[in-house]
Amino acid sequence: MGLEEKLPSGFLLTTVEQAAGWVRKSSVFPATFGLACCAIEMMTTGAGRYDMARFGMEVFRGSPRQADLMIVAGRVSQKMAPVLRQVYDQMPNPKWVISMGVCASSGGMFNNYAIVQGVDHIIPVDIYLPGCPPRPEMLLDAIVKLHRKIQSSKLGVNQQQAAQEAEEAALKA
Ligand code: SF4
Repeated sequence: MGLEEKLPSGFLLTTVEQAAGWVRKSSVFPATFGLACCAIEMMTTGAGRYDMARFGMEVFRGSPRQADLMIVAGRVSQKMAPVLRQVYDQMPNPKWVISMGVCASSGGMFNNYAIVQGVDHIIPVDIYLPGCPPRPEMLLDAIVKLHRKIQSSKLGVNQQQAAQEAEEAALKA
């Protein structure tokens, strides 16, 4: 039984939620997952000049099992779509997604059969970041906005998300 099931609702839960939100937002681990030119700006954001370490998230994880943020940096080809979904499924809950750049969010200039016209056809997206490519400052701004979302999220929502994903997986099987 999870912590959120054991605790009664009310003042105590609100305080615990705020503490859990603060801890979660201060230790987000992005998955190593670059798809195209936007990934160069994502890598720059992690380097010394922009210093993503200030937000407790400088370490890009090589394994999705150790990551809770996917930054979809670049256009998603149809061939890559099932791989992307698999990486997302392998990340533990709670997890978040930033769609970085116009190509990831809508296909961008690649309006053709080879490119997925928006990564939200494959996985849920928390933040859409415009630009071609978005500059590191823009990615940092998206990360700060995501932090606010994480901070204010309810504990039970993660369980609902997990149950929904399990339901989807059962339907696919
Ligand atoms: Fe490349 Fe621009 Fe598309 Fe990013 S948005 S993947 S920089 S073409």
